[in-house]
Amino acid sequence: MDKFKSAYFKSNNLDSIRWVMADNLKYWPVSKQLTEHQRLFMKSKWFMPYLKFMFKLTGKPSIPILDIPITTRCTLKCRNCSHNMPYYKSHAPNLTFEQFKKDIDKLLASCDIIYNLSFIGGETLLNKDLPSMIDYCERRKQIFHITFSTNTTITPPHELLDTLKKSKKTITRISDYSCNSELGGKIDVAGWKKTLDENHIPYFISEAEAWHCMPEIRRDDARPRHRVEEEFRKCYCFRKIQNLYNGRLLPCPNAKYFANIHPDYKFAELENIDIHAKSKKDLTKALIEFYSLPYYRVCSFCHSGIDTWSNNLPIAEQIKD
Ligand code: SF4
Ligand code: SF4
Repeated sequence: MDKFKSAYFKSNNLDSIRWVMADNLKYWPVSKQLTEHQRLFMKSKWFMPYLKFMFKLTGKPSIPILDIPITTRCTLKCRNCSHNMPYYKSHAPNLTFEQFKKDIDKLLASCDIIYNLSFIGGETLLNKDLPSMIDYCERRKQIFHITFSTNTTITPPHELLDTLKKSKKTITRISDYSCNSELGGKIDVAGWKKTLDENHIPYFISEAEAWHCMPEIRRDDARPRHRVEEEFRKCYCFRKIQNLYNGRLLPCPNAKYFANIHPDYKFAELENIDIHAKSKKDLTKALIEFYSLPYYRVCSFCHSGIDTWSNNLPIAEQIKD
């Protein structure tokens, strides 16, 4: 086994997959994709050896969670948005179905499984191609599970409901901000629940008693390497949430935001992989290396504040114009 494959085994990637599946299994009683036997297997001690065996067999890494930002626009302006959406300097056009298909086809040719593909925004319903993208993922066997998030400010269109009714592996994630009275007239969590229930569409409600602060990312890399590695290991994204955005694979949503506010910053090749510039084989190798790095260079600018973490922020507090 070459040194990168050996580093991959030592990295946390396989453990992240196990974590993702355990988390997803909480919701799968309402989803239709897995049999009871498969569920039991994934909870068992045999799942990890199975993941190792599959990596040795295919030589390809798997992806725990792949976030696909399909729009950077949102109908709300949450001060502590986990993806920094209100703070983007400029908005690129929404991701088109054609670009999405091209990107996902390329990635799937070079990896084994994507365990959870998550469409995120901004507000995902602002992208009219969302139903086509879900439908395409439904037909790709290498994609195990699909989620998309909504803040319920937009009524679900018929085309989306029809796609969700047919899907066996999509779960709608409703971000419930109803405890914030200032959003009263804008969001409709009850309406969404009623519509999804009537159509027998699986969903789960994501609600929190409070929000926590997000790592601040700024161009200052004064911390020693061991400190950056330590913060990366404690980071909420640690080997779990990668971003695929317009043909580029980035370590996390914060790195994507950093690229937006610092367009002149030159990312290291392995933390911003141009997937179309590589052959299938080279992309597989790059993915293995990507998951084996002790940290990403961009993490040097990211102050996750592990010592001063604030967990008590108001939910969906809006920025006033
Ligand atoms: S609803 Fe709020 S938290 Fe969600 S993407 Fe929009 S601004 Fe961010
Ligand atoms: S830049 Fe690094 S430390 Fe910061 S959120 Fe992303 S992966 Fe985590």
